Amino acid sequence: MSMIQRFGVLGGILSLAWMFSVSALAATPTDVAPPTMVEHTLPKPIIRGEWVQGAVLIGQIAPVDSIEFMGRELSIDPDGYFVIGLGRDYPTKARLKVSLNGESEAFDYTVKQRSYEIQRIEGVPKQTVNPDPEHLSRIRAEAAAARRARKADTKHQYYRQPFQWPLEGPITGVYGSQRYYNGEPRRPHFGVDVAAPTGTVVVAPVDGVVTLAHDNMFFSGGTLIVDHGHGLSSSFIHLSKILVAEGAIVKQGQPIAEVGATGRVTGPHLDWRMNWYDQRVDPQTLVPEMSRP
Ligand SMILES: [Zn+2]
Repeated sequence: MSMIQRFGVLGGILSLAWMFSVSALAATPTDVAPPTMVEHTLPKPIIRGEWVQGAVLIGQIAPVDSIEFMGRELSIDPDGYFVIGLGRDYPTKARLKVSLNGESEAFDYTVKQRSYEIQRIEGVPKQTVNPDPEHLSRIRAEAAAARRARKADTKHQYYRQPFQWPLEGPITGVYGSQRYYNGEPRRPHFGVDVAAPTGTVVVAPVDGVVTLAHDNMFFSGGTLIVDHGHGLSSSFIHLSKILVAEGAIVKQGQPIAEVGATGRVTGPHLDWRMNWYDQRVDPQTLVPEMSRP
């Protein structure tokens, strides 16, 4: 059973516990022992996952008016679930602000800092390391389209499902690495790379809605973005073929694309990236170990 499945069970027990404590209080208010120490008066968020840079954390909370994180009011499901993501360089201190009936309370957390690998990649097509100026407007337009797709703020609850690998195989690149292409420093790598021959099927890691399907972007080649709800999305890049259309609902395990070597690559592999809105997060914080490494 995965951590998220366990959390589902735990969450169920906790919601029962809330209902129970509310009715117990209503029935026999004088029998309740006074708390020895009151730390928080508002409902405390329960967070599943580790506070570490790149993490996707699933939370649950008893009914409140709002939760804020990084200046953003979070979407909360009717049964109290929410998701947050920590970027690659998230600082040490994180805070959730919970509000109810005009009162607010802060919950503070310490975020573990990671040290990232340095990866040097040679033999990348020159054009994709230093693009001609004539390609810049295309590059900008594609980046804007991808940003729009990842900004989707939907109420879907797919993010609560336990994730599976979209493809299993040798991992050849990890989240956060500082990259040098043909010796030149470029932006860090934000995905997890899984090597596989061109044409290998990629499946949906959980359910979602396709928000972008593009045959050939300048850097990312064949690009597919799937929204899992509450700002959490997956991007699959360097694809040779996309099997689903924008707007389609995909189910976990459904074939959605085929591996390719399109865009800035040296060979065929799947690059799976995840975003929480504009924060790039680490897909490996959501999946179990591969069943066949
Ligand atoms: Zn990659």
